[in-house]
Amino acid sequence: QAKATGGGGFAEYRPRMREGLVERLELENDLRGALERGELRLHYQPTIDLETSQVVGFEALARWPHPTRGMINPLDFIPIAEATGLIVPLGRWVLHEACRQAVEWSAAAGGRPLKMSVNVSVRQFDRADLAETVAAVLAETGMPADRLCLEMTESVLMTDTEANLEQLLRLKALGLTLAIDDFGTGYSSLAYLRRFPVDTLKIDRSFVERLGVIADDTALTDTIVRLGKSLGMATVAEGIEEFGQLAALREMGCGFAQGYYFSRPVPPAEAGRLFLEGAGSPVFS
Ligand code: C2E
Ligand code: MG
Ligand code: MG
Ligand code: MG
Repeated sequence: QAKATGGGGFAEYRPRMREGLVERLELENDLRGALERGELRLHYQPTIDLETSQVVGFEALARWPHPTRGMINPLDFIPIAEATGLIVPLGRWVLHEACRQAVEWSAAAGGRPLKMSVNVSVRQFDRADLAETVAAVLAETGMPADRLCLEMTESVLMTDTEANLEQLLRLKALGLTLAIDDFGTGYSSLAYLRRFPVDTLKIDRSFVERLGVIADDTALTDTIVRLGKSLGMATVAEGIEEFGQLAALREMGCGFAQGYYFSRPVPPAEAGRLFLEGAGSPVFS
């Protein structure tokens, strides 16, 4: 086989593989160190209430400013964190920092409520003490439970279903909100949606992207908004980049939206300003 594909090809292949492994181990080490030294950061992307056009909250998104590689994207380090178990301390840090920040901004705005959304990996559900961790963070930060939203993907519903259902019920009992992230890209069934204590559907960006361009996607988005309504769930559209998409979603009756059209995820100082400026008057139309 090696001969058939040519010796050169084979010889080239192995060093590249080794490089990949070394790089991965290096990144894993760096991530562990960065976490211990408190070098990870959160950026915040506003959530807009489509009825009032106001900023009602933020989604916390992890950022890793690496000393030599520059800013590393969460899509590149969250999988490493998941594979190594680092996602557990990382996830706890994100939760704590996001709640702490929400309490601070809300106080600075005279107590105006701020909804904070935090992404939770399916791997964090492997730990039976997830609800205890969340309860401890709420107590430590003074964050009112009903202002916290945990976002998870459909995989939480589809794997370890019984155990995860139990964990979600315990999380729900704390009084927080649960959202399905990237909704429409997984394989969860309507039966699952009804069974799980889910409050919010976040419509995946891939549908929003093609709104008004591809009729099927427009119909699907409309269907998800209706589905949410008939199940008594809120709907959030992610990835709005253009006014046309916003107009279409408004017409469908989608409740909330996020996307570059309003704001990219921004560092804390800028997000704090967005929240304060957004008080009283609609900042986006
Ligand atoms: P997500 O939770 O679905 O977050 C939305 C992603 O879409 C973010 O990417 C955001 O920057 C991007 N986005 C928002 N609006 C737009 C838009 O209008 N256009 C485009 N093209 N993109 C938009 P980001 O920050 O790179 O995060 C990627 C994913 O990494 C997140 O997807 C989430 O699954 C994961 N992630 C981020 N932070 C955390 C974390 O603290 N914990 C866990 N477990 N996962 C995280
Ligand atoms: Mg999310
Ligand atoms: Mg999402
Ligand atoms: Mg997404």
